[in-house]
Amino acid sequence: MSSTVIYTHPVCLDHDTGEYHPECADRIRAISHILDHEEFMYVPREEAPPATVEQILRAHPQGHYDRVMAAVPADGLFEIDGDTMLSPRSGEAALRSAGGACAAVDEVATGRARNVFVATRPPGHHAERERPMGFCLFSNAAIAALHARDAHGFKRVAVVDFDVHHGNGTQDVLWDQPGTFYASTHQADAFPYTGTPEETGGEGGAVVVNVPLPAGTGPEAFRAAYTDIILPRLAAFAPDFLILSAGFDAHAADPMAHFRLQVGDFAWLTRQLLDIAKAHAGRRVVSLLEGGYDTRALAASVAAHIRVLMEG
Ligand SMILES: [Zn+2]
Repeated sequence: MSSTVIYTHPVCLDHDTGEYHPECADRIRAISHILDHEEFMYVPREEAPPATVEQILRAHPQGHYDRVMAAVPADGLFEIDGDTMLSPRSGEAALRSAGGACAAVDEVATGRARNVFVATRPPGHHAERERPMGFCLFSNAAIAALHARDAHGFKRVAVVDFDVHHGNGTQDVLWDQPGTFYASTHQADAFPYTGTPEETGGEGGAVVVNVPLPAGTGPEAFRAAYTDIILPRLAAFAPDFLILSAGFDAHAADPMAHFRLQVGDFAWLTRQLLDIAKAHAGRRVVSLLEGGYDTRALAASVAAHIRVLMEG
């Protein structure tokens, strides 16, 4: 068994969001470049396959799938909203982001790998059941969670989202889904303006734990949010499969938000989450790239995250 496997696909570089868009192909290039370092030489790379329609439809109605795919332009760019752009290869990139997440679940569920990092774009956590938004087309983390539950029979699937923005899409998709858990730290009063502590999940559906934190939040308050609130709730849920919405835009250098984390804080959190996966989930972890817009900070943070994943 490989301890850690990385999923990606070259088409993720062809998802063109236009000039000066923060969610750009250079993000994946920066990650690929740092993963060329010899310490990652023996980490297997796999090509993310496209999601099946069945996998997408666990999270989205057919109409959403059809609208996204029909909006893909033959040439040029199509603007779904002010943030969310499509180019000719964006449909395939979106399907491979969601499909890579499901393949990663397969890899871990069957014991071929202990954990997987999925380095794809577009990201997913803002895509709601019926609405693409915030650079996101399909709700990758929720699709992965429902795949773990429905295709592999896991009974308690948790998503922990440490992107600096609230994963409104993941929360929306999982809200009514039994056997799921969604927890998020995020900057309060920032896009997408959801994720209050009062949002606790639908009856019989997901356990939702939101911890909004103010702009300017640094390592101490961020770590306390996990130590005091999210990690105890996650341990009490006792997940048998853990999915991470791994956004690195809470880094101090990130231009899209105002937290003050450093690389070491992402490594610390990864360690805490893996310890819970070890105690409850047979170490099964799938980590999906979400945000992170300062390419140097993103690459360094991803490398630190993967280093901890490799320790298992
Ligand atoms: Zn974000």
